[in-house]
Amino acid sequence: MKHIVQFSGGKDSTAMLNLMIDKGMKIDEVVFFDTGWEFDSVYRNIEEHKKKLQSLNIPFTILKPQKPFDYLAFEKEVHKKDGTIQKGYSWCGGLCRWGTTEKLRVLENYCKGNIEYVGLAFDEQDRIAKKRKGIKNFPLNEWQMKEIDALNDCYSRGVTYQEGEYRLYDLLVRASCYCCGNKNLKELRNIYNCLPCYWEKLKDKQSKTDRLYKKIGIDALEHRFEKELL
Ligand code: SF4
Repeated sequence: MKHIVQFSGGKDSTAMLNLMIDKGMKIDEVVFFDTGWEFDSVYRNIEEHKKKLQSLNIPFTILKPQKPFDYLAFEKEVHKKDGTIQKGYSWCGGLCRWGTTEKLRVLENYCKGNIEYVGLAFDEQDRIAKKRKGIKNFPLNEWQMKEIDALNDCYSRGVTYQEGEYRLYDLLVRASCYCCGNKNLKELRNIYNCLPCYWEKLKDKQSKTDRLYKKIGIDALEHRFEKELL
């Protein structure tokens, strides 16, 4: 039975992984599920930790969805109950979290029968309660580390999630996928004002689906944010 750390590259799993290493805890493998939709700073963080793990002789495995998320979202033929066919599952988030389902399926298949370490913090009891399938450990919870403690641990190690002149976590509550349908208005406003290259990606994705992002669409959001700047 292996000890496998689930690493997303976000603040919580980054703090968990580094502290487990510091404490000399047994780690046989680290796995990362690549949605293809992560922020650049998260991918950079993953690369840095890949090197660190290599130097410690800890295997690092990248898992991928069966098909790319962009294909699943905007191209795959989806047969609807009314007999019509739509192109892709469209935006992921809210009640339609098909990406999460795929991520959990791939991770569970890969990790089953082993001891898993998941980076959920002490102030995420509701999420911890839902994650009981398999042999799961939540070190941050055991150490009573809250999300802010995990973020400060990352900062203290120089992991600042820099996106240009901004630190990602000054703009967003969670890193997650840049096009996640769960982003709130404040986060979207920050993406529009501070991270224009991601806003362009959101516009591009909106052009590939009839379903409006968060029921109003990227164009309407842009109009709203533009007016706020006047
Ligand atoms: S972070 Fe959002 S978009 Fe990404 S898989 Fe999870 S629910 Fe879907």
